[in-house]
Amino acid sequence: MRKTVFSSALAAVILFTSCGKFGNSNSADDVKNSKSIFAMDTYITVTSYGEDTDKALQAAEDKITSLEKLWSVTDETSEIYAINHSGGQSVKVSPETADLLYFALDMNKRTNGAFDISLYPVLTAWGFTTDEYRVPGDKEIADLLESAGVEKISLNNQTVQIPTDMQIDLGAIGKGYAGDLIAKELRSNGVKSALIDLGGNIQTVGTKPDKEKWKVGIRSPFGEGNFATLEIGECAIVTSGGYERYFVEDGVTYWHILDPKTGKPADSGIASVSVIGSEGRTCDALSTSLFVLGLDKATELWRESDDFEMIIVTSDGEIYITEGIEDDFELSNNFADPKVSVIYR
Ligand code: ADP
Ligand code: MG
Repeated sequence: MRKTVFSSALAAVILFTSCGKFGNSNSADDVKNSKSIFAMDTYITVTSYGEDTDKALQAAEDKITSLEKLWSVTDETSEIYAINHSGGQSVKVSPETADLLYFALDMNKRTNGAFDISLYPVLTAWGFTTDEYRVPGDKEIADLLESAGVEKISLNNQTVQIPTDMQIDLGAIGKGYAGDLIAKELRSNGVKSALIDLGGNIQTVGTKPDKEKWKVGIRSPFGEGNFATLEIGECAIVTSGGYERYFVEDGVTYWHILDPKTGKPADSGIASVSVIGSEGRTCDALSTSLFVLGLDKATELWRESDDFEMIIVTSDGEIYITEGIEDDFELSNNFADPKVSVIYR
């Protein structure tokens, strides 16, 4: 039995990397400052433009550190750890954690159950939480799914209670919400132009310092390199894909996004999905859920929503984009001509 293990790579890549000065002007806006920190299992880089952003960047870094402390599943002092090891008792959490939990429950409804934060024991059975990968048996999965289900989570303002045999994880939304809160921190510290890269998830503040849109590369799920670029204003762009964390056993690939209905890696015919919108947490929750739902149901959800656009790459290499980003999307010319279809309302 051969096992091959691959893990996390950057999904979206910023192409805008020039240093220091832009254009011909020498204004204060041209000053670039950045900070990188390893948190939430990835590298988070915050880049700000403009004078005197040191204090804002420090505030952003402090925010990241504090959110990681709240939401880590493994840190014994985190709020999520306290919930998961509460033995059925209620736990008082911070406003940030409570907000995110309310949001996670809403997203479960909105996605018809595709988004489910109560799958941690199932993810553990597959080894995705320990890197000791294995394929659990059907009976084992069925038993673990019995204990899952967000309807068993009780949430009352800042008080959370879950059953003893349930464990939750915010891995599918934590980075997205962190992006929102970091952007807010930067704005309240006077930053007008900034780019936050959370392991390939991108969140921006304002436009580039020269008032142009940011240009973001969308990574190919089939190998290195970007298959396209997207021009964006102030928004978030979050990608989920089977290529981000997976293992291969006996020729079958198993990845880290599970279908809550089966407890197995979601197999909906999608290789990667990028979601673009004004809220990082919405984009993050949706990127994970649309990957579970597949192209048709993702399209249905997009049609009944007005808070996101999407780019879907199917397992057979076709690309689907929604009409809201049609004019800002450009295929990279180093890739063979894939079929691109625009989804209209
Ligand atoms: P990444 O964190 O790799 O960028 P995602 O945002 O798609 O990618 O989150 C994947 C993580 O979400 C998994 O590692 C797991 O912790 C959790 N997860 C897996 N399946 C689901 C699901 N159906 N709903 C909610 N969370 C999930
Ligand atoms: Mg996600």
